[in-house]
This record gives sequence, C-alpha cells and structure tokens, in this order.
Amino acid sequence: MLNRNPRLANLTSGYLFPEIAKRRAAYAKAHPDASIISLGIGNTTEPLTPHVVRGLSDSVAKLGTKEGYSGYGDETGLAPLRAKIASVLYGDLVTAEEVFVSDGAKCDIGRIQYLFGPDAAVAVQDPAYPVYVDGSVMIGAAGPALASGSGYEGISYMPCTAENGFFPDLSAIPPKSIIYFCSPNNPTGAVATKAELKALVDRARATGSVIVFDSAYSAFIRDPELPRSIYEIDGARECAIEVSSFSKPIGFTGVRCGWTVVPRELAFADGTPVMNDWARLVTTIFNGASNIAQAGALASLDAEGLAETRELTDYYLRNAAVIREALSAPNFRAAGVEIYGGDNAPYVWARFPGRKSWEMFDRILDECRVVTTPGAGFGPAGESFLRFSSFGHHEQVLEACSRLAKLTL
Ligand code: PLP
Repeated sequence: MLNRNPRLANLTSGYLFPEIAKRRAAYAKAHPDASIISLGIGNTTEPLTPHVVRGLSDSVAKLGTKEGYSGYGDETGLAPLRAKIASVLYGDLVTAEEVFVSDGAKCDIGRIQYLFGPDAAVAVQDPAYPVYVDGSVMIGAAGPALASGSGYEGISYMPCTAENGFFPDLSAIPPKSIIYFCSPNNPTGAVATKAELKALVDRARATGSVIVFDSAYSAFIRDPELPRSIYEIDGARECAIEVSSFSKPIGFTGVRCGWTVVPRELAFADGTPVMNDWARLVTTIFNGASNIAQAGALASLDAEGLAETRELTDYYLRNAAVIREALSAPNFRAAGVEIYGGDNAPYVWARFPGRKSWEMFDRILDECRVVTTPGAGFGPAGESFLRFSSFGHHEQVLEACSRLAKLTL
C-alpha cells in the first residue's frame, strides 16, 4: 500500500469544528430532551433573498433551453461578474481582469499555497481562521505540531490581543513570508484601521512578503472610516492578494461563490507576474464556479441585490448587538468578562479571565445548552476567549441570551 503523505500526518486531529460537534453530540446523547442552541459556527441561517433567488432561478431556467444552455465557462469567471465585482465592490481600485471568480474563499486560500510552495515562510494572526495554518501544513510550508501543543513548527504566530488592540507586532514577520491577515477578523471581530493596514503593507514590502488579505466579512463594516479592502491602501497592489466571498453577505455558504484579486503589479522575486501563475493554476486544477451561483452573485451586485445584502447583514449585526448586551449582564460583569467585536463584524469575542476556553465552552453547554466556539481552537492567543457567532435566527439568539443571563460564573 502507498505511504501516507507525511504532511497530512503532521496535522493534529482536532480540527476545531469536528471537536465541537463531538462534544455537542455527546451532550445531546446524555440529555436527549435538551434543546441546544448554537452560537458556535459561522454558518449562515437566513434564507436567500428574493432578488438573488430570481438571479439564480432565471439562470436555471435559461440552462433548460437550447439557446440558453452553456457548459464549461471561463475558469476565471463570467466576464460581467468580474467587471461588477471590480466596479461595485472595489470602486475600480482593481480591474475586471484582476478578479478571479471562485467557488469560495476557503478553496482559494488552499489553492493560493501552490503559488509559493513548501519553502515560503508563513506568518499568521493568532488567533486565526484555521485554514491558513492547516493549509500551510498540508503543503509542507509548516512542519509538525510543536511539543508545547501551541501551534506548528515554521509558522510565525502574531498574537492579536486586547492589549495590542488586536493588531499584531509586525516585527515578528520573517523575510519573504506569506502573511495571512483577516479583517474584519474571524474570530476576534476586530477591523484594522487604514493606518494599521498601511503599516502592514509597508512591512510586507520591506520584507519582500505577500499579504493574503481575507475580506470575507467586509459587508459587515458599518464605520465608513474602516477599510473594506487592502487595495484602499497605497502600495498594496505590489504586495497583496485579496480573497473574498459571497458566503456571508448573501448567504451563499451552500451555493458557493467567491473571488480572489491578484493585481497586475504583484510579482515573484524573479519578476514573473503572480497573476500569470494564478491564471495557470486555476485553469488547471479548478474548472470554474457554478454558472448558476455566478448568476446569483451577479444579481446581488445590482441596486436591489445590494439593498438585500445590507438588510441581511443588518439582521446578523442586530443579533451581535443582542449578544454583546447579554454578555454585559451583571453575572458576566462581576466575573470581569471583557467583550470585543460584534459592531463591524458578525462575531463577538469574549474573554473570561482566569478560565480556559474549553472549560467555559463545556460550562455554557452544560448550564445553558448553548454552543459557543472555544477561542483556544483558533490559536494560542485565543485561550480564555469564547467566540459567539451572530449567525442564527433572531428568536433563537434571544432565547440563548436569556439562558446566558442565568449562567453562574
Ligand atoms: N474566510 C474566513 C475568515 C471565514 O471565516 C470563512 C468561513 O467561515 C471563509 C473564509 C470561507 O469562505 P467561503 O464560504 O467563501 O469558502
């Protein structure tokens, strides 16, 4: 029999969400009558909106006609969608040819690692969305888990803590790194300011690094001063790739559509444009996003679609406000619980001083029948935190919050 890919063997088994599901299932088995509410995962819950549904269903109907049928499309995406992403979402800071439509940000984050291979250094925010690190381990850019249990060999973790305003010390970035940076951030809910992103871009350029900027949650930004894209920053076109998604703005978590921007100016050390290799890569190992999904995404970018996006993201932000309020109740205040995020992002990040994340996860599951996400699962700096997700039906979020009010701390 063939040997197992040693890089896959390097992955530690406990990918966060399966572990949460396991504990939830064990609790449900032991308490079959308990109604459990999840504020745990980042999966959307509200139905697709009418105008976007029309975009999807018109596309399906068209595919059922001789004249309207199309098979494989351009692997880089439908031309009108690429143009609309560039103009509507980026105000023409990028061009249509720099936008590559995909089946989602997560998939592209995995594929981007092929651009740089196993020898690239990797720097990540700590805590971080797990795919940046796990993808790096899979491609061999990171080694086995450290004996301390806090991370992997070969990854430079950049702690984002309450003390540094969730913006890391950039001097930790080694030369020639892939820097994964997510804003609005999953899990902390923090959004980097323009000045912070300028410092990040300057550091990337000074170290010959490339930023992989994940803006999957940009539609939740309400503060007009906060940047929605790395390309709002001077110099970013020379050092940054941006990955993004229709999953959270319009509920396409199951429909699947996202995009990646690779600017023309971005080049490898030998001068080859990164864009050329990205085009080669996606046309080789990816056959394009579903044409139906792309039609829905296109509908979301006209006036009606944008109004629906706003309404949908407002809905989740209202949930986040309710969660923030619940975590400010006297029982939490007395225990010194600190609350972050949730105003320009769908996640509320709460610190429980002196407690472990998994201990608080179990406690809240046991006492309140509410599932959260342990911060420690996102990286060593997430210890003592829990992430509360605002993706849920409003009534259920209200019920979960009324249960939290009774938590003994
Ligand atoms: N990036 C971040 C930061 C996320 O939190 C998620 C999903 O939770 C994704 C990307 C995945 O996006 P997609 O559904 O487009 O693959």
